[in-house]
Amino acid sequence: MTYSPITPTIPLDAQGVHHGFLRLPHSRDESAWGAVMVPITVIAGGQGPTALLTAGNHGDEYEGPIALQELAATLDPAAINGRVIILPMMNLPAFSAGRRCSPIDGCNMNRSFPGRPDGTVTQKIAHFIATRLVPMADIVLDYHSGGRTLDFLPFAAAHILADKTQEAACMAAMEAFNAPWSMRMLEIDSVGMFDTEVESQGKVFVTTELGGGGTATAASVAVARKGARNLLIHAGILKGTPQKAPSEMLDMPDERCFAFCETPGLLEPMVDLGEEVERGQPLARIWPTDRSGSPAQEIPARLSGILTARHVPGLVGMGDCVAVVAQRVT
Ligand SMILES: [Zn+2]
Repeated sequence: MTYSPITPTIPLDAQGVHHGFLRLPHSRDESAWGAVMVPITVIAGGQGPTALLTAGNHGDEYEGPIALQELAATLDPAAINGRVIILPMMNLPAFSAGRRCSPIDGCNMNRSFPGRPDGTVTQKIAHFIATRLVPMADIVLDYHSGGRTLDFLPFAAAHILADKTQEAACMAAMEAFNAPWSMRMLEIDSVGMFDTEVESQGKVFVTTELGGGGTATAASVAVARKGARNLLIHAGILKGTPQKAPSEMLDMPDERCFAFCETPGLLEPMVDLGEEVERGQPLARIWPTDRSGSPAQEIPARLSGILTARHVPGLVGMGDCVAVVAQRVT
């Protein structure tokens, strides 16, 4: 096993319920021999597969941490066959600061995999998760939402993969999660993502985008909560019947899904989440913020589909992702 400076304070392979931390020494001005303490819960009962459930990969996304805090506090080992490893705030420094990236090293955890045992704080946490926790798992769920600068239709997602057997298993798990929308997802920038690392280890992987704007709603938390339970039942770990509701399948066929801003300014949305758009139709207008009497710049849809994501808050910067359009799979 490769060296890691991180020590779990609980056993990862014992039956029952164990709440503790991944303790990473972090010597700094405020604490000479201090540590970053990443919360972890392991719940095991009987014999069966292992699920790794993670949230707080980005620190300003809240449905996952809420659902996993509840699960960690309530899941009964007598109700499961197997093991559930729960990290509700995997990038704890970012989560504590309410920021996407860690204030300690500026790193975006979801661009830091597979990490480094001798790297920055974020890289060390990523390395431990990639080399110790992912290999133990049969199925991995990583919760995301839009954070402070995006808002999404609530969807679970799986990626197109070279291994079609693995892809089918991931798609089946995504459908089992049963969010209101299910996405065959294209990434802008997949290098260094947790998704890519987990998939490269041959695991079943599901991610989500459940809302955004830097907070959660009652409805988006309900999707997160139901999804974890459904996924554990699908994996054969949790006994019970899945809660099912209609879920519409969406596809992101190519990079025309994304609309990026080529001028900073004041964002006027012209379509709201979930609405149909035609190719060429303006998704948004960008008004100047430094003068009056000048025209707005229109941002057209590059393909027809459903508005799946939008920028928040009201001002946009150069190069920001303004909107995402995905297509219904019929
Ligand atoms: Zn995220």
